[in-house]
Amino acid sequence: MEFKCDLCGYIILEEDMCDDFFRCPVCGVDKYHFVLHKKVVVDKKVFISDDNLSINRVQAKCINCGVCSRVCKNSNGLVISNECDNCINCGKCIMNCPTGALTPKYNYREVFDIIHDRKKIVVAFTAPAVRVGLSECFGLPFGTNVEGKMVDSLRCLGFDYVFDTSFGADVTIMEEANELIERIKNNGVFPMFSSCCPSWVKYLNFKYPEMIQNLSTAKSPNAIMGVLIKNYFSNIIKVKPQDIVTVGIVPCTSKKYEASRDDLITNGLRDLDYMLTTTELSIMIKESNIDFLNLKDSKFDSIMGNGSGAGYIFGNSGGVTEALIRTLKFMLDKEDFEENDISLNCLRGGAEFRDATFNFGGLEIKVAIVYGVENVEALLKKIQNKEVFYHFVEVMTCENGCIGGSGQALLSINKLHEARDLRKNNLYKLDKIKNVRCAHHNKEVEKIYNEFKGNLLEILHTDYNVKEEIKVK
Ligand code: SF4
Ligand code: SF4
Ligand code: SF4
Repeated sequence: MEFKCDLCGYIILEEDMCDDFFRCPVCGVDKYHFVLHKKVVVDKKVFISDDNLSINRVQAKCINCGVCSRVCKNSNGLVISNECDNCINCGKCIMNCPTGALTPKYNYREVFDIIHDRKKIVVAFTAPAVRVGLSECFGLPFGTNVEGKMVDSLRCLGFDYVFDTSFGADVTIMEEANELIERIKNNGVFPMFSSCCPSWVKYLNFKYPEMIQNLSTAKSPNAIMGVLIKNYFSNIIKVKPQDIVTVGIVPCTSKKYEASRDDLITNGLRDLDYMLTTTELSIMIKESNIDFLNLKDSKFDSIMGNGSGAGYIFGNSGGVTEALIRTLKFMLDKEDFEENDISLNCLRGGAEFRDATFNFGGLEIKVAIVYGVENVEALLKKIQNKEVFYHFVEVMTCENGCIGGSGQALLSINKLHEARDLRKNNLYKLDKIKNVRCAHHNKEVEKIYNEFKGNLLEILHTDYNVKEEIKVK
């Protein structure tokens, strides 16, 4: 324990207090007067405001060890000590808190209430990384794929429809590919940054507002699921959009913040109503006494339930770029990669930074992949100083991408690396066995582009104009 002298601010350690003759070396107050009047425990924990949409702290469990502050400073370069500081909702502090004082903010009870109320159609959609993370909440080996049981459990819980966010990822890729080609042909703003990670979008917004135009305007896969469910699927099932509740199941605490953003309101309705973490889904299953391990394997509902292999690998760092490159090759070269070349190993691996150059249709395309805010910072400096140039940069806040998100099972810190590796490898394996491995060959995606009545571009894009809700220091 440490004490702070109120007179001069000097930090006095507990061992100093054992010394009967101790005097504060700065202001001279002796131990007895110091203890009587000035006993203040230095607050080492990150500040979590009551209105933080992603993180909750159980004060009674907090031992004020300061690990959360250190992790936030070391991996994000942020000091969150009061309400004026911007928390990017990444949840890295949760993953490292040794006492479980920090948890994701849970919203699953509200979703239970809506389901049990039976007044609304409740639609779930599951992010690629959840199927290889949920298994760990039920004692299965790290990274085990439980897609079929996950879908069945959501039906048992009472969700009316269960879709796959890998489908939304395919739509995001179609939009990003078109946007990138447009920028290359018309001398647009470079690099184009990926915009799927809300922590990254928030960080760029308050730290580098002058680069906000670099973000791809394509909505994230989750937001695309939400907006299409309310504006396309609603017509198919003949239900008013306001009578539908969209619930994303995600590996991420930051998506809870994303759902609240005002630039994700379409025709007066939020694209995303609730975002539940992998752990929250496991709690719902356990509280409902569902025997998860003995569930049958179910399939997603159709129309928005089929993702390509490219959509699956969105959960891995480098997956967005690989999916994009597969589709850019087709759009610019008018042909796909050969079967043996479609797994782009040059974009894979665990390194925090990777880059590559491709040539399609006479265009040179330079891409980079980076995860972790501290690594992004270094890259942004180089980009601003014109030391490097890229057409596209994929940025994810979490280590190895969304498979390493803080909404996944809370594991011992020394097991995280192994778990992330196995989740990552299993997503690549799932991609490999899919019949359709490219977004542009996804028949369900094609159907929406052919059938949607109205301006699809308008609802699939946003301007990320969220500065007013972010404190700029
Ligand atoms: S890491 Fe957990 S226990 Fe330690 S100060 Fe932070 S909230 Fe408290
Ligand atoms: S959620 Fe992320 S940014 Fe916010 S306090 Fe925790 S580590 Fe820091
Ligand atoms: S990398 Fe993925 S899981 Fe992590 S904050 Fe970003 S979107 Fe969420």
